[in-house]
Amino acid sequence: MPRDPYEVLGVSREASAQEIKKAFRLLARELHPDVNAHDPDAEEKFKEAAEAYEILSDEERRATYDRYGHEGLRSGGYAPNFEGFGSIGDLFNAFFGAGAMGGRPGPAQGGDAAVAIEIDLASAAEGTTSQVSFDAIERCEHCHGNGAEPGTPIETCERCGGSGQLQAVTRTMLGQMVRTMVCDTCHGEGRVPKQPCRRCRGRGRVASKRTLDVEIPAGIADGQRIRLSGRGHAGEPGAPAGDLYVVVHVRDDERFLREGDDLITVLDVAAPLAALGGTLEVPTLEGHASIELPPGTQPGEVLTLRGAGMPALKRSRRGDLRVVVNVVVPRRLTDEQRELMEQLNASLSEENLRSHESVFAKLRRALGSQAA
Ligand SMILES: [Zn+2]
Ligand SMILES: [Zn+2]
Repeated sequence: MPRDPYEVLGVSREASAQEIKKAFRLLARELHPDVNAHDPDAEEKFKEAAEAYEILSDEERRATYDRYGHEGLRSGGYAPNFEGFGSIGDLFNAFFGAGAMGGRPGPAQGGDAAVAIEIDLASAAEGTTSQVSFDAIERCEHCHGNGAEPGTPIETCERCGGSGQLQAVTRTMLGQMVRTMVCDTCHGEGRVPKQPCRRCRGRGRVASKRTLDVEIPAGIADGQRIRLSGRGHAGEPGAPAGDLYVVVHVRDDERFLREGDDLITVLDVAAPLAALGGTLEVPTLEGHASIELPPGTQPGEVLTLRGAGMPALKRSRRGDLRVVVNVVVPRRLTDEQRELMEQLNASLSEENLRSHESVFAKLRRALGSQAA
């Protein structure tokens, strides 16, 4: 079932035609691909907004919707649906006229490029600089990007008469629509080289290996992307370059599990030591740190080292290192050890084994649940 069109446009049920139009225009501007190029849902959202506008901008349809809802519109033969209408550019042009997609069509902007890198957990904690290499489309240096063999003239494009655009009239469900397209001969330039550059065959761009140093901020998580604006593929002459996306993979560290900004590690402690308590060494990202083990520490208890976790990307505070105590019961005892154990065991009283935990708390701990 489609959403309530009033809700989609964010207007009240009493909104005037003027308010509805204004709300739709504002929403459309927000969802315009030039503004919102990287929101994969922008197209769906725009279609939804367009459908809502189609209902509320028509008095009769709006009245039908108000009384009978979407069902009423459907049985009345009117249910707007812009699925399969074509590209979002076509939709924008249909609503706002040719050229709504970024004014006068011109040379195309460069495409975005993506590259993946892998770093270890310690580098993710400290922040690092990584070198990335990728095949980028760059300006052709032989012709300086104009596509003409040096020393040869550039002439007005015959196909578009130098305007860089072509007009096409199409019929759509919204009526006759004039679409303006970039000229496919000159790619919007309006001019074409008489003799194309031999290195780039007139395109003005060539592919080449590009190497860049990328700053990886401290605290980055596995799978996060860093966007380098304008470092992607070069555009057609006169148009801006695309962006470069660096996808950061953080390798697993066998010593630590990461949970948000916290790190979790497991520390094996012999049962007698867990009973006695003491100062222990735990691994940290930087090396080692001391931690106090209280006497009588039970299996699965968690000790916390404040601030020894990962730095938080957008906050100054670091996460914690949580140390899960794994009490190890000694195996393969020597005769002497067995004797000591027998003595110890015989000496234990109810008092030594009593705890304040309920049966369920013990069970939960035994099952390894860290949740409080
Ligand atoms: Zn060239
Ligand atoms: Zn042309």
